Amino acid sequence: MPGALVVEDDEIIGRILAAGLEEQGHEVTWCVTGALALRAATQGPVGVCIVDLGLPDAEGLDVVRSLRRSHPQAVIVVATARGEAIDIVAGLDAGADDYLVKPFTMMEVLARLRAHTRRLSPVAPPAPLVAGALTVDTDRRTVSVGGVTAPVRPKELELLALLARSVGRAVSRQVVLRELWPDPGRSAQKSLNVTLTTLRQKLQEAATTAGVDAPVITTLHSFGYRLEVDGAACG
Ligand code: CA
Repeated sequence: MPGALVVEDDEIIGRILAAGLEEQGHEVTWCVTGALALRAATQGPVGVCIVDLGLPDAEGLDVVRSLRRSHPQAVIVVATARGEAIDIVAGLDAGADDYLVKPFTMMEVLARLRAHTRRLSPVAPPAPLVAGALTVDTDRRTVSVGGVTAPVRPKELELLALLARSVGRAVSRQVVLRELWPDPGRSAQKSLNVTLTTLRQKLQEAATTAGVDAPVITTLHSFGYRLEVDGAACG
């Protein structure tokens, strides 16, 4: 959860905003002047800013402009008593993503922050699994060895990803069957054997083309499998 900056000289409102954001899991810095806010903004990452326009030492719009320059990705919401259309336009033009006119409820503040955060933070795709020369990208559904793509089928990719998550360690046959074949039985066992054979061939072919050692899927008698990759950390 990104850090939150509350810039508000009114003690009651500041306390409510800080408490509400803390409850949502933000680490909150509450500043009562513009100068303190700009200093706090240099201390670490800021994901969310709520800024009052009527501050004792500064024009809130200048604070908004400055925060927008230093934190282009942050969600900045102006929260102020100034509710004229011209004030709202000025606030948004200064770089605010949203504008709330007092009195407002914490519920509304949080809902608006959620709406903006959703837009700015799409769910990050899983990072590719990398072990030595092997890369398994479960998001793009690709496997490569030494930079050469191995044309794997979905089941082969899932099996390899499962083993790559535990590279250098044994994974039991039961775990493999349970994870990848929803209906484990004799046909699942047979399907696993076929998948292993074709996967090994494809890894070997890609490795040969790339001129690197192939990742090896070792069968552990009466137990399961272990992926061994040259140069990959085992543990
Ligand atoms: Ca004020």
